Amino acid sequence: MHIQEKVNIQPFVTLAVPAVAKFYCEIHSQQDLLEALRWAQAKGERVVVLGGGSNVLPDEFINALVLHIKLLGKEVLQNTDTQAEVQFGAGEVWHELVMWALSNGFYGVENLALIPGTVGAAPIQNIGAYGVELEHCFKSLTAVNRDTLHEKIFTKAECDFGYRDSVFKKIAKDKYIITQVTLVFNKTISAALDYPALLSTVELLWQHSRGPFKPELISPIDVANAVIHLRQSKLPDPQQLPNVGSFFKNPVVANAKVEELKQRWPDIVVFNVDENTKKIPAGWLIDKLGWKGKEVNGVTVHKQQALVLTNPNKLSTACVLATASAIQASVLQHSGIALEIEPQCIA
Ligand SMILES: Cc1cc2nc3c(=O)[nH]c(=O)nc-3n(C[C@H](O)[C@H](O)[C@H](O)COP(=O)(O)OP(=O)(O)OC[C@H]3O[C@@H](n4cnc5c(N)ncnc54)[C@H](O)[C@@H]3O)c2cc1C
Repeated sequence: MHIQEKVNIQPFVTLAVPAVAKFYCEIHSQQDLLEALRWAQAKGERVVVLGGGSNVLPDEFINALVLHIKLLGKEVLQNTDTQAEVQFGAGEVWHELVMWALSNGFYGVENLALIPGTVGAAPIQNIGAYGVELEHCFKSLTAVNRDTLHEKIFTKAECDFGYRDSVFKKIAKDKYIITQVTLVFNKTISAALDYPALLSTVELLWQHSRGPFKPELISPIDVANAVIHLRQSKLPDPQQLPNVGSFFKNPVVANAKVEELKQRWPDIVVFNVDENTKKIPAGWLIDKLGWKGKEVNGVTVHKQQALVLTNPNKLSTACVLATASAIQASVLQHSGIALEIEPQCIA
């Protein structure tokens, strides 16, 4: 374990905001983690956890010990004819997990291909894309309590997953460090194609390379390829254009609110959540109010996806949040909806 002082963590966050950690330590083993936590306790320093840095908004100075999680490893715990149960280290790269699973005939996470970040951060907001969320293949996770240093296994029920939500954003916020995640994969071929754009992309790619489309033969690899194609065509690559993906959560509103908004925007896009509520794509609202492609104080609303704010000038989190506030105020004024920010502020 090697604790460094005043470390520039700008290269480790995909929004590329200037940020310096008072103390910084890479965590490669359970022993590193326990030693670092004991060190922080002895010095009275706060602890902040960093994975792939793709969903954080750091302050310019982080007055804490930043633990950069690099815990690697994968272990197949069970492998039957129909299912495989695999435990992954929290520092494994999520997209590499998806590709590894596919290459082994383990299915269920293909819709989540190309989501940046680490395996350990995936349960924090129950990552989701193209109609599938982490919870669909989640079995359990192991985490270390930051105060007691004891290990705890969280079952799926204990994680209390929701839309971009889990217990780790609620009562367990900032209390645990996730060290391992166990997933259960299907070994029978099936494809989750409820998302219309995904099905049409599978068809397009199929016709391009294999001739007449045969939906009954769609494989999880076809789905992953279509997801990758869609994401690369719509979302900016953080290496080229710093961003944190979706900046706002899609608001879930009562049916009555949707009816009210339809008076103003008859073409409003909504998705059913349950019989009383619907989800409105925040990007649709932002686009409708004319923000798409706009630059505000050096921060840009992405021209292909209004939900993504990009930071080409590598400005501070405060600058990015100022632009986000202007968008939130505009959406509130015109729709009465308060947009919630998706990435996590770290200070
Ligand atoms: C281009 C782009 C596209 C994206 N698309 C999607 C998408 O489709 N769906 C989606 O859900 N998300 C998406 N995201 C957001 C992001 O990729 C996910 O939230 C991802 O899970 C974050 O992983 P990370 O390792 O980068 O976490 P970080 O950004 O490092 O951390 C995020 C939060 O988790 C905490 N944390 C990280 N690791 C641990 C750990 N081991 N234990 C405890 N706490 C931890 C951090 O303290 C922080 O609060 C996208 C981001 C980008 C940049």
